Amino acid sequence: MKILVTGGAGFIGSAVVRHIIENTTDHVVNVDKLTYAGNLESLESVAESERYAFEKADICDKAAMERIFADHQPDLVMHLAAESHVDRSITGPADFIETNVVGTYTLLEAARAYWNQLDAARKAAFRFHHISTDEVYGDLPHPDEWTGNEPLPLFTETTAYAPSSPYSASKASSDHLVRAWKRTYGLPTIVTNCSNNYGPFHFPEKLIPLVILNALEGKPLPIYGKGDQIRDWLYVEDHARALYCVLTRGKPGETYNIGGHNEKKNIEVVHTICDLLNELAPSATSYRDLITWVADRPGHDRRYAIDADKIQRELNWSPQESFETGIRKTVQWYLDNQAWVNNVKSGAYANWIDQNYKDR
Ligand code: NAD
Repeated sequence: MKILVTGGAGFIGSAVVRHIIENTTDHVVNVDKLTYAGNLESLESVAESERYAFEKADICDKAAMERIFADHQPDLVMHLAAESHVDRSITGPADFIETNVVGTYTLLEAARAYWNQLDAARKAAFRFHHISTDEVYGDLPHPDEWTGNEPLPLFTETTAYAPSSPYSASKASSDHLVRAWKRTYGLPTIVTNCSNNYGPFHFPEKLIPLVILNALEGKPLPIYGKGDQIRDWLYVEDHARALYCVLTRGKPGETYNIGGHNEKKNIEVVHTICDLLNELAPSATSYRDLITWVADRPGHDRRYAIDADKIQRELNWSPQESFETGIRKTVQWYLDNQAWVNNVKSGAYANWIDQNYKDR
């Protein structure tokens, strides 16, 4: 099978590409614009494989998308390219509407035109798998406010959409477009909505890598509000396995929620990282002393938590890492991969991309 992966130079996309090249016999075409979040150094371990190809392109570029489908003739599509950082969406929403909404529309149209001219067997086997977030559902009641006797609710595949940020609203829009292309045109689409990911190769603007790297430099560890927001953490390699499982065994027209059953308050996550660093990279004072409280993010969702029962029941997927094992691996990875970290922090990875792709 040849799989066209968009956003394969990003955090989750690179885990997906590594997973496919290292664990299957499939071929991958990675289509990525290489924004600040795209880093080809995350793909060094697979870059020389003859089953891997890279196309530097913008998913909003109709002609480029049509050419890529025509040149590579993929059997399956995994669409991960997106602007993904909530804080950036608050200060600059335009890129989020452009890539997440217009880009998804452009990719869907290129995929539909390509799919329409396939022979019957390839047409039936084709999938357009759209990778999305649980943030489209808005937020859930928080245990500190919960007065009911029944268990706290979780997001299911039928939870109504109620996005809070420009990021989640743009992803919600793209989810609706993908489902409409199935219903209206018959394009065999599948949507997955996943909780917060963490793990190796994560760009240090997101909570977990930011805390690890700031702590190692003795910089403040900024915590929004009271730090009591709850997220349901999933190790990125478990997500990559889940995505491949849905791509190859999921049913067109279906949605699958993916989560790790790891609800943690942000402050608990930060304490865990500080305690691991105290053990693995001890310094004169406790890393917890670096915690600094900052004003809460506007519209900050209080709690996310996924009911991942459907994917477990129907596709037999469950996470292999607990939060305790996954976070230990992650902290150790950042300690062991200073070169990757330094290139990201200095911007050298972007220069490397310019050097290698200046003629394209
Ligand atoms: P990321 O920001 O690390 O990577 C995004 C990738 O998309 C980058 O390589 C970037 O260069 C590329 N890209 C951006 N705009 C593009 C464009 N116009 N054309 C082509 N490429 C473009 O994001 P991530 O954390 O890896 O997330 C990947 C997907 O998974 C996103 O769709 C996101 O909404 C979804 N998701 C993320 C999480 C999470 O916790 N990170 C959780 C659930 C779902």
